[in-house]
Amino acid sequence: MRYMKWIGWPIFTLFVAFLISLFIYDKTMDIGTIEAESNQLSTAMTIGKTEFEDFPDLTIHFEHEITDEGASYYEWPSFTSEELNNKVVSWVKRQKEKGVENLSLQQKDINHHFYQFILLAKNNNIKEIFPFVIDKNEVKLLSLGELFSINDEFIHKLHALVMEATKGHMDEEFVQEKLASIEDLLWLIDEETLTVYLKDEMKSSELADYKVELPLPELLSFAKVEFIQRNSLLAGIVAEEAANKAEEERMRREAEERKRLEEERKHAQQQRPSGNVGKYVAFTFDDGPHEQVTPRVLDTLKKYGAKGTFFMLGTEVNKYPDIVKRIATEGHELGNHSHNHPDLTKLDYGSVERHFSDTRSTIEQITGINTSLFRPPYGAVNGNVLSAAGNTGSSIILWSVDSLDWDSRNAHSIYNEVMQNVKGGSIVLMHDLYSSTADALERILKTLKDQGFEFVTVSELLQMGGRTGTGPHRGV
Ligand code: ZN
Repeated sequence: MRYMKWIGWPIFTLFVAFLISLFIYDKTMDIGTIEAESNQLSTAMTIGKTEFEDFPDLTIHFEHEITDEGASYYEWPSFTSEELNNKVVSWVKRQKEKGVENLSLQQKDINHHFYQFILLAKNNNIKEIFPFVIDKNEVKLLSLGELFSINDEFIHKLHALVMEATKGHMDEEFVQEKLASIEDLLWLIDEETLTVYLKDEMKSSELADYKVELPLPELLSFAKVEFIQRNSLLAGIVAEEAANKAEEERMRREAEERKRLEEERKHAQQQRPSGNVGKYVAFTFDDGPHEQVTPRVLDTLKKYGAKGTFFMLGTEVNKYPDIVKRIATEGHELGNHSHNHPDLTKLDYGSVERHFSDTRSTIEQITGINTSLFRPPYGAVNGNVLSAAGNTGSSIILWSVDSLDWDSRNAHSIYNEVMQNVKGGSIVLMHDLYSSTADALERILKTLKDQGFEFVTVSELLQMGGRTGTGPHRGV
């Protein structure tokens, strides 16, 4: 102990003398303090700054103050942009006003497109953080919504990743609430990780809990292409790799979708209705109205005295209200096929219900007919879809015979597919989008009519089979 004191004091004294000789005093601030405690020489302040030859718009400041009470240390960046300074420097000011003694700057990334920093204020046992990313091209703080397409799917994925990263120890509601205002979320990014901070003020010991590191590759399929192209924040994950992954993901989803449709088809065939309603068949036409094909389909139905059911998209109904009126006038049935054909099983309940109600009221405005028939895009049904059907008093109509016209686009194949599978009580799925479908319909109706079949609307068929309720109905 004695030895330490002997060595320590002279060094400390020399050090202080040295500092004093170099100190740049902020005179307006310090004179008062020095006079008040002049005999103690109790306050010393160093201020300085670092500038960067390659980044002239950036300056890093430091301020070091030693008083009897202790030392304080501040470090922060400033920019040539007034707007950025307003946000960053005002945060620093607030910390000073709170009496924070230690404010440090961690420089995460400085390149010609972005600056990423994290300001960390420590005050006793409390830490406050301010991570931020500056887009140099746009000269502004970047929000997560400028990197990623923020949709339900993204939020869902983010939620799952956060829960996984925190091993389920984070309160679900808290996470949900944070992700609800995603534009305010604090974050940083590197080649492999998106780091999100779920709180900005916490106990020192909690920092690790609220700093959550998420694997960036899992989110790349949501990255906005224009963003990836415009800059190199995702440097290391070059644009090409991101695009490849997005493409892979898209192909994987398409393959899944094809597989699901195929299984759906098999399932529908296994569940083919009993055919106990005699020779009645309901033809259904999805995704229209179509400017050319729908009038051809209507002409053909008229020729064979047939009634059909048209499951229409809101987007197309808006485009061709006259065709919608013609469908209704000629005694066919109108059905709703959603507004714009999303996979409803991927949407939240509110969105699903809107797809049930919006197109329905559009159809009613045009024709005065309030349809209760709903065919979900891709035949995709889950709990939300069933609830929305129940709550809007709709019936879900699927099919027992898929003409596969969307796949083959070939009149001969469509004809064969339908003729091999159709029987009394069938609901046949077709699309009034393809001229091959209109061609095939002519042959199908002719053959079936010769065999004694009659062609009715879905509601008529269900009524004959005594089927009511939400369904899903595939035939009778
Ligand atoms: Zn469809």
